[in-house]
Amino acid sequence: MLKPAVHPALMSNPDTITAVKGFRDVLPDETRRWRLLDEAAARVFGRYGFEEIGLPIVERTELFARSIGDTTDIVEKEMYSFADRDGTSLTLRPEATAGVVRAYLESGLAQRDPTARLYYRGPMFRRERPQRGRYRQFHQIGVEAFGREDPLVDAELLVMLTRYLDDVGARDTRLELNSVGDAVCRPVYRERLRAFGTARLAELCPDCHRRLERNPLRILDCKVESCRRVVASAPVVLDSLCDGCRAHLDAVRALLEQESVPYTMNPRLVRGLDYYTRTAFEVVGATLGAQNAVGGGGRYDGLVAALGGPDVSGIGFALGVERLAMVVPAEVGAEIPPAVAVLPLAPEAVGPAFGLATRLRDAGLSVALEPAGRSVKALLRAADRRRARVAFILGEDELRAGRATIRDLVRHEDRRQALALDAPSAVLAETVRSMLGGDA
Ligand SMILES: [Zn+2]
Ligand SMILES: [Zn+2]
Repeated sequence: MLKPAVHPALMSNPDTITAVKGFRDVLPDETRRWRLLDEAAARVFGRYGFEEIGLPIVERTELFARSIGDTTDIVEKEMYSFADRDGTSLTLRPEATAGVVRAYLESGLAQRDPTARLYYRGPMFRRERPQRGRYRQFHQIGVEAFGREDPLVDAELLVMLTRYLDDVGARDTRLELNSVGDAVCRPVYRERLRAFGTARLAELCPDCHRRLERNPLRILDCKVESCRRVVASAPVVLDSLCDGCRAHLDAVRALLEQESVPYTMNPRLVRGLDYYTRTAFEVVGATLGAQNAVGGGGRYDGLVAALGGPDVSGIGFALGVERLAMVVPAEVGAEIPPAVAVLPLAPEAVGPAFGLATRLRDAGLSVALEPAGRSVKALLRAADRRRARVAFILGEDELRAGRATIRDLVRHEDRRQALALDAPSAVLAETVRSMLGGDA
């Protein structure tokens, strides 16, 4: 996408205030596409029984320390935390799952509707190094399904995810699947990984030395190059699964295969957050380079209890809207130009022109209303720039006759009609629609 040039007046002014590093504006070229992503979410997720939840952006810091895990990079290095005026530590949410779980418990949904299915969308905040398609304020669309342990739910979510990606026209993405074990088999794997890491200690970074002590799984997502080389030959969790986890994974895979959902097993896929159990998955964009995940998710059977709720399981995923927008074709969400331009020639035409524009808009048409006092030529040029297809021209003749000249801007022909300037909305709209051939 073309980066718009900075306005010259801003460049020469040292007092200019610019956006904070890693934060950016989302301009109409992109918001149009985002709106389609939102609409598809409501449509596709709705078929699977998901309803939208709106969440606060600020939560208590403790919520994330407890849910994401205080040994993760997110909590250790990337959160925007600050002391409120009364000293409470608050954080701009780095992800939304913890907030959804908090709301599920706090609102009483956990009792009223234990198998609630919720989806959310909105901004998240992480102080990461800004890079292509990654910002410190980024946006996610995500879902959470509570209260079901059975593999049917995992399969439902994965089919829904592929249907959503199809619906928005996402290209060159693939689904990667893994199981990360549970409370039975993960400790066994953790010890295998600790033994492996301890044997290769000299090749690991200082952070990973600490991780080996506190939570060896974290070495798997270390971003340091030498650590990545070591980790490439580390034991995989898939080889340590207990019978229960193995059966769960097999059942999910059988359902995906039954519906011919394409996926690949990735035994090195470990979600960055501590609370994931069993099913873990990622959507990878082939054209996105090294940081190529469009989104991902998995099962988090221990999280609700960890946040003080009942022992209820959950599963969900989150998609990065910025990254999703990068794999959606550019023509999706293309600008829709106004159908009609209303062009007042004389200052006296302003009132009637305003009335015409209002009634055309009331009838559902998009209208560009130009200011008065310019030549017909200048006004038609303006209408052309806006790519309007029909123009209502109001000069002195038209005012005297009490009717507008209607020009077809595509065929460049005038159609003088006995169309009163005060014609009702429906009549105006019908005239325009007949000229547009019914596609407005
Ligand atoms: Zn490391
Ligand atoms: Zn297990």
